[in-house]
Amino acid sequence: MAKHLAKRMNLLGTETAFAVGAEAAELAAKGVKIYSFHLGDLDMLTPKHIREAATRAMDEGKTGYCPNAGIAPLREALAEDVGKARGLALDARNVSVQPGGKPVIGKFVMAFMNSGDEVLYPNPGFPIYESMIRFHGGMPKPYGFIETGSGFALDFDSIESQISPATKLFIYNNYHNPTSAASDDEEMKRLAELCEKHDLIVLSDESYFDILYEGRGKSIVSLPEMFERTVILYTFSKKFAMTGWRLGAAIGPEDLVGAISRFNVNDESCTAQFIQWAGVAALKGPLDEYHEMMSTLKNRRDVAVEILNSMKGVRVARPQSTFYLFPNVTEAMERLGTVTVEEFRKKVLDETGVSFTTRNHFGSPLEGETRSYIRLAYSGIGVEDIREGLGRMKEMLDQ
Ligand code: PMP
Repeated sequence: MAKHLAKRMNLLGTETAFAVGAEAAELAAKGVKIYSFHLGDLDMLTPKHIREAATRAMDEGKTGYCPNAGIAPLREALAEDVGKARGLALDARNVSVQPGGKPVIGKFVMAFMNSGDEVLYPNPGFPIYESMIRFHGGMPKPYGFIETGSGFALDFDSIESQISPATKLFIYNNYHNPTSAASDDEEMKRLAELCEKHDLIVLSDESYFDILYEGRGKSIVSLPEMFERTVILYTFSKKFAMTGWRLGAAIGPEDLVGAISRFNVNDESCTAQFIQWAGVAALKGPLDEYHEMMSTLKNRRDVAVEILNSMKGVRVARPQSTFYLFPNVTEAMERLGTVTVEEFRKKVLDETGVSFTTRNHFGSPLEGETRSYIRLAYSGIGVEDIREGLGRMKEMLDQ
């Protein structure tokens, strides 16, 4: 009964995007054709050699408890792979295996935030940051993004104006969900200098580090003095199409990552052992299916960007990373006479079956925000349905 709940339960947030999925499923059950752009999940199968490694591990009896911080072969493989991509020499002590990337967020906050500490985090952004900061008694300090001709950039005014002696942590999600913002060298350097100057501990959420269509992934840990103060959130979910397997890691200096592993002892004891063996196969195996997935995603991105930009009152840049688009729909909303972006979302869903989330599913709008955005995930919808669904949306908006 609600009256028995601990008071702190009022502080726990959620991912409201799941509600959009439920709404779309209800319409689909009534026979409405739904074009599903709401969920950031992949419609590709996990590569075969990874699936086989999991069943082999089970057959070999790798079904019992294992070390809290993960099996040595996986920690070593992650140290090598993640270190190499970021120009660092890491070893197993720098890695704490986790059941997904998401658990790193709460464990990071619990390990490094005292109650009353201020934490800067992106808004719009992954809603679990704010949920965990509030739940554990911190002061959430959301920072925003600025729309540029080529995408989105960090709003340094909103970052700098909120830093105070009480600011302890900075959450950074380069290759950003939902805007796809990717820092250029200058922006990343400026941010690193700020974190250094104010002695902030950083959570670098690198969930989309490998979902990159051009160039090479960049991490803030590669900049001078940053590795020492940063925990990387790593996940197998996207690169290896393993969202449901629940496999990720916290990667960073031994003392920071060691603190995070202490929660493993208290929470799950360890991440499922046979899943970890599948992770070893993922890191050491061929990348053909990953490259295939990237070319499928790139094609979807290009088709969706072109149709969106042809709609009256819609504008979106072509992002280099992630599988999200975050179009500005301010003018389209005015043309339709919709007042809120939620009304816009519902109207498009009802009239066309195109289902997406909006800026408001990624945190409460910040003061002074005047533009409206929606988020389309193209990770789980084929190119024919993208054409058909967005074609219908175009017809509706161009009237
Ligand atoms: N961070 C961001 C920015 C995400 O978008 C997601 C998943 N959508 C996660 C973390 C968590 O991913 P997972 O737990 O599947 O690794």
